[in-house]
Amino acid sequence: RAKERGKNNFQFFTSDMNTSTMERMRLENSLHAALSRSELLLHYQPKLKLDTGELFGYEALIRWNHPQMGMVSPAQFIPIAEDSSLIVPIGDWVLHTACAQARRWLDRGDLLGRMAVNISHRQLKLANLVDSVHSALQHSGLPAECLELEITESMAMDTTQETLDTLVRLREMGVHLTIDDFGTGYSSLSYLRKLPIDGLKIDRSFVAGVVQEPGDAAITRAIISLAASLGLAVTAEGIEEASQLAFLREQGCPFGQGYFYCRPMDVARLDDWLAARRRELAAH
Ligand code: C2E
Ligand code: MG
Ligand code: MG
Ligand code: MG
Repeated sequence: RAKERGKNNFQFFTSDMNTSTMERMRLENSLHAALSRSELLLHYQPKLKLDTGELFGYEALIRWNHPQMGMVSPAQFIPIAEDSSLIVPIGDWVLHTACAQARRWLDRGDLLGRMAVNISHRQLKLANLVDSVHSALQHSGLPAECLELEITESMAMDTTQETLDTLVRLREMGVHLTIDDFGTGYSSLSYLRKLPIDGLKIDRSFVAGVVQEPGDAAITRAIISLAASLGLAVTAEGIEEASQLAFLREQGCPFGQGYFYCRPMDVARLDDWLAARRRELAAH
């Protein structure tokens, strides 16, 4: 039918497609070139020890500086990268870049703990993640113990032998594995005992409500105590207010990150933040 309309082909299709489909196609086309044009970059958000306020590590968060659209959120383009297999080269680039930066901060004394990198489920399925991680560690000279992979609950729930083998091999290399956005996915907890994981991240939607919402406070408390009894390190994400921090500290949550401390920033701005922090500590 489209053919019959001849010149009106394009119109015929556009009127039938919703804008999100069009937007997706547009993004996918330009995402192919984004890597080679150096439009992708990483921001880093500090993670801190909540009891002492010591800087512990960082989470690497990808950004896309699109020539026409400006900054595109990873929530928008990571799913597109996953569908188009672009997640493999992009994921490799993230691993290499984050490990190299972690090595610089480690050498300077600004990395006590770990650099965390987000890994998506499709990336684990499509790429040889063990080789990718190994190569990023080799190139950067970053010790494996200084790398943490944040995996999604859906990945944790995938109990195929292949996925399990990959996770076990990464853990054997010394890399830390953490479940991101814990509590928002599948509710079965039995997988926690079967998986070779080191930590949980409390989803920011719970942290946001710990002061006003008794339900969120209860869930947060339960996750902290569950993690402690399973010997898992727990990190609260999205701490925005002093009252939320106070609650988390009181409950014995060991690690946290959020706008209250620092927004994710590029390396130059984060280096300024680190320098200012050092001056402040020296003044006390
Ligand atoms: P995530 O891993 O759960 O990351 C936390 C998100 O919360 C980040 O959004 C971060 O900028 C934001 N955030 C941090 N502190 C606060 C706070 O105090 N308040 C609020 N409201 N937000 C805060 P971002 O950077 O937009 O990333 C969104 C998601 O995209 C990430 O969620 C992660 O799932 C995914 N992502 C980001 N970078 C990568 C990557 O390199 N690879 C993969 N596969 N996924 C990534
Ligand atoms: Mg994360
Ligand atoms: Mg998260
Ligand atoms: Mg999240």
